[in-house]
Amino acid sequence: MKNRLLILSFFLLFFILPTKAEFINIGILANQNVNSVSFSVRAGKYALFTESGKQKDFESGVQLTLRMVEGHIEVIEHGKKLGRYKQVNLIGTGWYNHFMLKSLQPPLLDKRYDDNLRVKVRRGKLLLINNIDLDNYVAGVVEAEVGRKPPPEYFKLQAIICRTYALSNTHKHLEEGFNLCDQVHCQAYHGKSFYPPIVDASMQTRGAVIVDSDIQLITAAFHSNCGGQTVNSEDVWTKSLYYLRSVRDTFCFNKRNSEWEKQIPINDWRRYLTAKNVSLPDSSRTVYQTDHRENEVLYTNLRFEDLRHHFRLRSTYFNIYQDDQSVMLKGRGYGHGVGLCQEGAMEMAAQGYTYAEILHFYYSGVHIIDLAALDFFKEE
Ligand SMILES: [Zn+2]
Ligand SMILES: [Zn+2]
Repeated sequence: MKNRLLILSFFLLFFILPTKAEFINIGILANQNVNSVSFSVRAGKYALFTESGKQKDFESGVQLTLRMVEGHIEVIEHGKKLGRYKQVNLIGTGWYNHFMLKSLQPPLLDKRYDDNLRVKVRRGKLLLINNIDLDNYVAGVVEAEVGRKPPPEYFKLQAIICRTYALSNTHKHLEEGFNLCDQVHCQAYHGKSFYPPIVDASMQTRGAVIVDSDIQLITAAFHSNCGGQTVNSEDVWTKSLYYLRSVRDTFCFNKRNSEWEKQIPINDWRRYLTAKNVSLPDSSRTVYQTDHRENEVLYTNLRFEDLRHHFRLRSTYFNIYQDDQSVMLKGRGYGHGVGLCQEGAMEMAAQGYTYAEILHFYYSGVHIIDLAALDFFKEE
């Protein structure tokens, strides 16, 4: 038995860990009614494939115009029409292929993308899909989500979170013909990352994802700042997940999003509480004060989360002070508070904690494994 386990560990370490390339389909500019684009090869080589097979190869520097004409896509190279097709696939065939895409109608700023472009006509507009290596996509998302300021170690854990999220949400836009969109609805993605520490972080964690004790991808929830204590998942959502437990966090003090204040006119406050059938508190000046997150309910019928949504508060962690004119909320943190606290995690990274230590601090009892191992356990 012991020998078998040893063999399995050996097998996992040396034969499974080198990951196969995993590609994902991202709907780009899907919220715009794009009907004409310019495509330019910026690096590598591309080949044009259509419903009638391969048409032509393109070297770096070539520029094509793709426009919708009578429900088809017309492809034009330097003013010369190459043909009209139902589908256009521009597939990278060289090394480090990337292209520039610019919407001509409507006119938008150009963006650069790694790997492949697939184009179809759908509902009277061009459906543009970036078919991209998962780790290239992850680098683009990390840059769009957190910018270039965090310490390099932080980029690694954000890459693992974004990869885990992407793989557990590949069904989100299947009806529209792709996996994820490029908006915050899924994960913000503005195209290729050109920032080496971010690209390196994605490549150094290539294939790494976070799973729970049943080897299922976790809900890798994160937020800007927990205010000193994260929240149990069931206090914000209905679902209780064992790895999304409240933890005390002193790493996120004195950051940009540590504290906030909001003044609410007394009548707005009273109207809302009455509508919620909450008996009004007495006239004492301090209505509610806490130095820790206690539970999800402020009064019977009233959850902190309800107040956060109604009054557009930065968090559910606050003290309440009241006078004749208004109610003053003094709060801590920014976001729902569940899972990883980004400003805390950035501070931990700056202090020298590794990405694995930081992930285990915020997500209790999870495992960081390689995608290929995930496939192995699925097949069991
Ligand atoms: Zn989406
Ligand atoms: Zn925190």
